[in-house]
Amino acid sequence: MEIFEAMATKEHDQLVFWSDVASGYRGIIAIHDTTLGPALGGTRFWNYASEAEAITDVLRLARGMTYKAAITGLALGGGKSVIIGDNHTTEREAIFRAHGRAIESLGGRYITAADVGTSVDDMEYLRKETQWVTGLKGRSGDPGPITAFGVCQGLKACARFRYGEESLEGRHVIVQGLGSVGYHLCKYLAEEGARLSVADIEDERVRKAVADFGATAVAPDDVYGIDADIFSPCALGAVINDDTLDTLKVDIVAGSANNQLAEPRHGEALHEKGIVYAPDYVISAGGICSVYGELEGWTAEQSMEKARGIYECLLQVFGKALLEDIPTSQAADSLARRRIAEARRVRDG
Ligand code: NAD
Repeated sequence: MEIFEAMATKEHDQLVFWSDVASGYRGIIAIHDTTLGPALGGTRFWNYASEAEAITDVLRLARGMTYKAAITGLALGGGKSVIIGDNHTTEREAIFRAHGRAIESLGGRYITAADVGTSVDDMEYLRKETQWVTGLKGRSGDPGPITAFGVCQGLKACARFRYGEESLEGRHVIVQGLGSVGYHLCKYLAEEGARLSVADIEDERVRKAVADFGATAVAPDDVYGIDADIFSPCALGAVINDDTLDTLKVDIVAGSANNQLAEPRHGEALHEKGIVYAPDYVISAGGICSVYGELEGWTAEQSMEKARGIYECLLQVFGKALLEDIPTSQAADSLARRRIAEARRVRDG
């Protein structure tokens, strides 16, 4: 893999590799852009098949964070970090403290939070080595619930754009993944009177959503073929791909999962099929509003208010896409890039 080539393609600033032989820690921190502020993005702990796969993932995720912060109107740049290894390990303290030292070495250019495979408990280990960590216990904590709140606001914006009214009452929504975001999303949707079909690879999570919200259980492999109004991916990335596209029978795709489009061309394909796609980094911005609020000393209500803005932000994206007849994914990228370019012009005089 040509690392500088990979960085240059998507305009990344910095890639940091850090190793701690004693604990077995192997970490990578990617800083994509700091024009708007320090690079913020979570730490992902994942058993990557290769170093190249980890580098590709961290670069892709860091860039998504730049765009997410920019379009949400936050004074943050984009970054992300990955720890390569088994995220079920019980030997967490030494690994996370090594990661904390790597973060500290950047002097605040990169700020982290929890992500897939890491928890608020792990953030406490990081805090022993670095001040550049958010989403802490007793402060903003788990961002999942506020992310779910933001996704629910986003679904209302999608409904308004597609059906002319924002109400989700009676709308049939398929929620894929019932983790921290998906479970809370089901709660919000049940309150809105939506009809829920749910899937998770962990049966216990499905049973809980069925019991708590009267949802209908669906096998994980069957989610794509269901005739419904909205498909909400809240599990993994790349779920909109060559295999799933033609099976989709929904009007809207809108959920929290990062990097839902396997390739940019899948955004074009959704556009051609007339399916409204809420760009993932726009609709899932509730969590970053929460950790940004922690950095700025906001109250929980102020962070929720910021997350409520996802509704208007998506309508702006949809309006631009409609006007220019372009995929919503392209419209969002263009709005995010514009904000960064304007800030760069001001900065550089
Ligand atoms: P989580 O790990 O708590 O939950 C993910 C759930 O998806 C788990 O229950 C898992 O069993 C399930 N799952 C995995 N593979 C599946 C499959 N093939 N079919 C159905 N279910 C499957 O994660 P989370 O915090 O809820 O985040 C969900 C997604 O949203 C992730 O992609 C994450 O990157 C993104 N996201 C999360 C936040 C946040 O605040 N937590 C913010 C922005 C984006």
